[in-house]
Amino acid sequence: MNNVVAWEYPWLQDLLESFQRSHKSSTLAHAYILSGSRGLGKKQFALEFASFLTCERPSTKGPCGECKSCKLNVTANHPDVLYLAPNEPGKALTVDQIRRLSDYVHVSSHAGGARVAVLAEAHKMNSSASNALLKTLEEPHESTYLFLVTDSLGLLSPTIRSRCQRITLPTPSLAVSLEWMRALKVREFDEQLATSCLKASGGSPLLAMEMLLDESLPTRQALEHEFIACLTGNSSPDNLLASLLKSEPITAIEHILSTTAHCAKLMLVNPSESHDSSNDTGVLGGLAPSSAWDRFLEQVKTSDGDYNARRRALFGNRLVRLYDEIEKARRQLQSSSNPNSKLLLGSLCWLTSRALK
Ligand SMILES: [Zn+2]
Repeated sequence: MNNVVAWEYPWLQDLLESFQRSHKSSTLAHAYILSGSRGLGKKQFALEFASFLTCERPSTKGPCGECKSCKLNVTANHPDVLYLAPNEPGKALTVDQIRRLSDYVHVSSHAGGARVAVLAEAHKMNSSASNALLKTLEEPHESTYLFLVTDSLGLLSPTIRSRCQRITLPTPSLAVSLEWMRALKVREFDEQLATSCLKASGGSPLLAMEMLLDESLPTRQALEHEFIACLTGNSSPDNLLASLLKSEPITAIEHILSTTAHCAKLMLVNPSESHDSSNDTGVLGGLAPSSAWDRFLEQVKTSDGDYNARRRALFGNRLVRLYDEIEKARRQLQSSSNPNSKLLLGSLCWLTSRALK
């Protein structure tokens, strides 16, 4: 069955089994929030579980792929599965879309079974859309299930969060992701390149795979190089801005976010405790911030060990502050307020150039 992919993601197996158990024991919640980093398969998970819930002959391997319901789901035409996402990238979900969702859940199932709605990028709601959704969540209907999908859980209103069961999709270990990438056999497998893509994607296998296929790793590495050069006073904020503008704003921002996190971690963790490049934390820190960062640290090192330790702590704390600012900008970009992304990135470049001074 080539349309069922989430069922084959090894990092989602436990979650799928637990959802199947809840379904079997009729204890599924009426509304779920699926959160977690980008590139883990949240949306696929929700849509395929919707196919499973509406399939006429489901099994532990997922929906059958053969029945009338499955065929309708493949073409996204099932009358009992509603999928909603912002109409355009970067735009908010509209109150009309949420009203459509509310009307939809009030109608009973065409096939007499489950009725499912999947709301992608659920954090992109303004307050009127959010209020409309809240009303729907307050009036659950039997055999109707709602999946709100988001990679910015903090942007969903606390009331909405409290009305749903929250599930965070796990980020797999480097070994699990590598094995999955190897098994796809899309081209001759280069473990070193795949590892670099995984590190650059913050450990998200689908993003890493995308990077491997579209060959965007060099662009990302160039961006990281420019970011560290600006941070260490070896290049200007203008150069960094030019580099950031070569990618989608949100992609660029997420990349410098993971680089900042990695640099901060290197500063704040005792060097003798940080031999973890092969495990999960190594992946989550982003790309090893290369020789440029190491060279900078080497240059500012003195013969006074205590002074060096204090300076590492100081740099670490300043990087944490910079991380907070970048994260704030990421949230603004993902919100429904449509900020001017060039201005926002420009101010981040300036903050980066000042961060260690
Ligand atoms: Zn089926």
